[in-house]
Amino acid sequence: MTCYDLHSHSTASDGSLTPEALIARAIEHNVEVLALTDHDGTEGIEAAKKAAQGTDLDLIAGVELSVTWGSKTVHIVGLGIDIKNQQLQQGLTKLRDYRVGRAEEIAKRLAKAGIEGALDGARKYASDVMLGRLHFAQFLVEQGLAKDNNDVFKRYLVRNKPGYVPGQWASLEDAMSWINAAGGQAVIAHPARYKMTATKLRRLSTEFKEMGGAALEVVSGRQHPEEIKTLARLTEKLELMASRGSDFHTPDNSWVELGRLAPLPENVTPIWSTW
Ligand code: AMP
Ligand code: MN
Ligand code: MN
Ligand code: MN
Repeated sequence: MTCYDLHSHSTASDGSLTPEALIARAIEHNVEVLALTDHDGTEGIEAAKKAAQGTDLDLIAGVELSVTWGSKTVHIVGLGIDIKNQQLQQGLTKLRDYRVGRAEEIAKRLAKAGIEGALDGARKYASDVMLGRLHFAQFLVEQGLAKDNNDVFKRYLVRNKPGYVPGQWASLEDAMSWINAAGGQAVIAHPARYKMTATKLRRLSTEFKEMGGAALEVVSGRQHPEEIKTLARLTEKLELMASRGSDFHTPDNSWVELGRLAPLPENVTPIWSTW
């Protein structure tokens, strides 16, 4: 059975491996089809494609778009996208520009809480293309203000904490139109992580499907078997397909590894059945 891992990050967003090192690690871990899905940008794709050339690994061009749906931030993965598509790139530019202003705002709020220099501190951990909360987390850990990234998020970067800035990302409609314009297939990333009620998740998935959405990420890194079952049932009900992706960011997190995740349940339609 072919090993698919359709969700991963590189230094082109908040991953710690370069695209080349990511490809090498994927091959080591017997991944046969890997999608590189950096947040709000495709800068890593060319290098990843090159690194995969002449190997047994198939590299799928992907992206993970930040979306605001109601009061929630939701992530939509686009798979098999044409990274040269103008409409997609214009959308990505908007998201990247928004990230810069948001980072400044996060730094301002942290400064008010007595933490100076967070913007430059976070930038040290980021490539010049994308600045995210994980980069702030790395700075705050470095400063000894928290014990690990997870601890930073809990204490500084989420709702009701000093460095929290409510996201104002793309609308679901816009994100879907960019992925569709670029000829990609859209996947709702890690659906269980949004802490939505079943009703709400069903509403999101229904809207998503009506906008041309293809699949739910039924198996994602570090996920409970019960969640897999629930998501599998939802794909059946709504006639969506299923995707599988680790959401790998770094070798430092021993919980999440490339290709190391449960298989898709028998009763779903894998997104790769259309490939
Ligand atoms: P952003 O898109 O800049 O708001 O950052 C979101 C990213 O932060 C996610 O893709 C994860 O990589 C990371 N993240 C979110 N929550 C946590 C957490 N509790 N612990 C570690 N990393 C997290
Ligand atoms: Mn991330
Ligand atoms: Mn995500
Ligand atoms: Mn991700």
